[in-house]
Amino acid sequence: MKGDLFKTTETRLILLYSGLLILFLALFSAVVSLIIYLVFLNIQEREIGALAKEEAKFISESMIRGQTMPWEKSQDLIIAGGDQFFYYVVNPNGEVIAGDEAIESSRQDLLTAIQEWSPKENNTFKAISLRVTYPAWGDMLVRTEKIRLMMTGTPLSYRGQILGTLYIGKNISFVYDLFRWLNFVLAGLVALFTVVAFFVSRYMSKRAMVPVERAFKRQQEFVGDASHELRTPLSVMLTSINALEMNDTVKEDPFSRKMLATMKNEVKRMTKLVGDLLTLARTDSGTMEKQVEAVNLREMADKVVQTLRPLAVEKQIQLKLTAPEHLFIQGDRARLEQLLIILLDNAIKYTTTGGEAELSLGLKHQRLEIKVRDNGIGIAEEDMTRIFDRFYRADKARSRQSGGHGLGLSIAKWIVELHQGTISVESELGQGTTFIVNIPKGDVA
Ligand code: ADP
Repeated sequence: MKGDLFKTTETRLILLYSGLLILFLALFSAVVSLIIYLVFLNIQEREIGALAKEEAKFISESMIRGQTMPWEKSQDLIIAGGDQFFYYVVNPNGEVIAGDEAIESSRQDLLTAIQEWSPKENNTFKAISLRVTYPAWGDMLVRTEKIRLMMTGTPLSYRGQILGTLYIGKNISFVYDLFRWLNFVLAGLVALFTVVAFFVSRYMSKRAMVPVERAFKRQQEFVGDASHELRTPLSVMLTSINALEMNDTVKEDPFSRKMLATMKNEVKRMTKLVGDLLTLARTDSGTMEKQVEAVNLREMADKVVQTLRPLAVEKQIQLKLTAPEHLFIQGDRARLEQLLIILLDNAIKYTTTGGEAELSLGLKHQRLEIKVRDNGIGIAEEDMTRIFDRFYRADKARSRQSGGHGLGLSIAKWIVELHQGTISVESELGQGTTFIVNIPKGDVA
């Protein structure tokens, strides 16, 4: 149980640490990638902006000098190609009066893109993607490719006179190619660092758990030692009280008798608590050994019922035992007896005067079934999952009154688990409770 707790905490820490590291890495790569993307686009915008300005000046001057620019001649003016993919000059009436492009077949698409776009101000840019088709292998093949263009529109004017607009576009596919590669490399790095992050987190979690485990162990040892040390003075006290009770002067004094009875009760309660604490401390530290032998459970149940009968009689509770004549299982005798006592004692404790409590034993598919049923106060739905927790008591006042500390069921659960079994509870408030234990019978005749 303790091991499980440390393991789950360690796993949670690993997940938390590596999750955070991976998240940080992913965020970091995303930011780096975004920054590079924006910087590259910005550089492209600046370049194309400068180019457009230069070309606009040149074209405006040519237009003023009266040079017409039929399509055929425009190449003389600006040779589109290379990085600059196209240029078009549009007059104020919206007619294209000159232009050129690197791949002729894309003219229509480009003109459509320009017409659909009306740049509101100077220095506006638009990135478009275009599917272009061009001959390859000496006209033997036709290749189609998707390219990315950055375009801008610049007004053509001369001394305040509007001559038209110049549109130019630059092929910026390489930026996207570069960006794709960059993302690929970053994703690879994130994957690599994810593995590193996992191992680093594992190492860090293990280190973080060391002091916790050490402190837990020390605390366990303390509880174990303290309970062990307390047992001797408690038994001395009990013996002394017993001796005092037999003293004639005390016998005759009702006050002293009452006081001694109270003391005895409290010492017994404390002895039980100390015993339970010692058991739990030993189970935690794994120093409790299981001594397996063939146990006649019927015989044991008889004995337990005998032991608890006085308590039942005191509360006028009918105590029943239903079990086959002989019932052997492989188990730890002392622990199994403790289990029966805990469950039956609870059944009596939490049943009102005049009620009934029943212990039944039986075999079901090679498994021992122990049922402890009572028609007592029952357990509320919300308490049902917690009653097996240490020191959990549904009704603290009542439990204390009847000498409970809330450790019984956690010990019972541990004993059941020690025998690879299960324990469950069915209960209805005010109606009664049934605890059902299931344990493999083991290899007995
Ligand atoms: P305690 O020493 O208080 O009896 P346990 O661990 O044995 O501690 O039980 C935990 C709590 O479960 C009890 O305080 C009680 O509220 C509830 N409980 C256990 N057995 C029964 C039962 N048979 N009927 C009703 N409540 C029960």
